[in-house]
Amino acid sequence: MDYFKVSPRLEKYLRVIEEETGLPVKILQSPDLGITGARAAFNYHPDYTVVVLNSSEPRLNVDLERSVAHEATHGYILHKLGYCRAVFTEKTSDDIKRKANVLFSMVEDLAVNRIIRENGFPPFGSEYLPMLKKEIEVAEAGETEGENFYRQFTSDLEFEDIIMVSRYILAWGFLRYYSLPLEIRFIIQKFLEVYSKAYPHHYPHAARVKEIILRNDVFTAPGECQAMQEIMKLWGFAGMVKTVSTKYNSY
Ligand SMILES: [Zn+2]
Repeated sequence: MDYFKVSPRLEKYLRVIEEETGLPVKILQSPDLGITGARAAFNYHPDYTVVVLNSSEPRLNVDLERSVAHEATHGYILHKLGYCRAVFTEKTSDDIKRKANVLFSMVEDLAVNRIIRENGFPPFGSEYLPMLKKEIEVAEAGETEGENFYRQFTSDLEFEDIIMVSRYILAWGFLRYYSLPLEIRFIIQKFLEVYSKAYPHHYPHAARVKEIILRNDVFTAPGECQAMQEIMKLWGFAGMVKTVSTKYNSY
């Protein structure tokens, strides 16, 4: 890594993940992660925990460090805890794969962010709250303005809906499952409120996902696997996406 120096704290955390999973952690760089604006990604591999950093996005070291911890923890929950990942049929299009993967990340992130937080890393990066404030602003301007804002990440309407739902669930998860300072809770609460009023075409989807998450304990592998199966059905992806655990019986 030429632009990013792994701190002793991160080094120690990654060593624990390697010991627990029995798989080496590899940190790679790429100028394009496949989703506009994505800064880091976890790539599934049976023999490694692969973290890819976006080399074309300059970031603060503290955010890079959190990102590496975050992405490596996706590996930990799959390889060690037996969380389900998406496995596709031969006929599954790249489009469906991309959408399913974002839906899986959305739910996994609730667990991942809690684990990194317990290990001394911030649950979100320094980019999160400024972005959320911007998202409050566009939601207050109305649904069309909001959709135009999220369109910077994709021109596909279904993918745009999935991104919007995942933004709601991420924020809702922080409020429900994390203890955060009051002024931060206030901003998140505000986002959830304006979102539920501004987006009649998206909020009902977010509400259904929320209901599925509340019925299944996504902080455990069996709960996450069941929730993902239901979320795949919700988007009509069930026939093309299997939810497979490395430890438990597949669904
Ligand atoms: Zn993630």
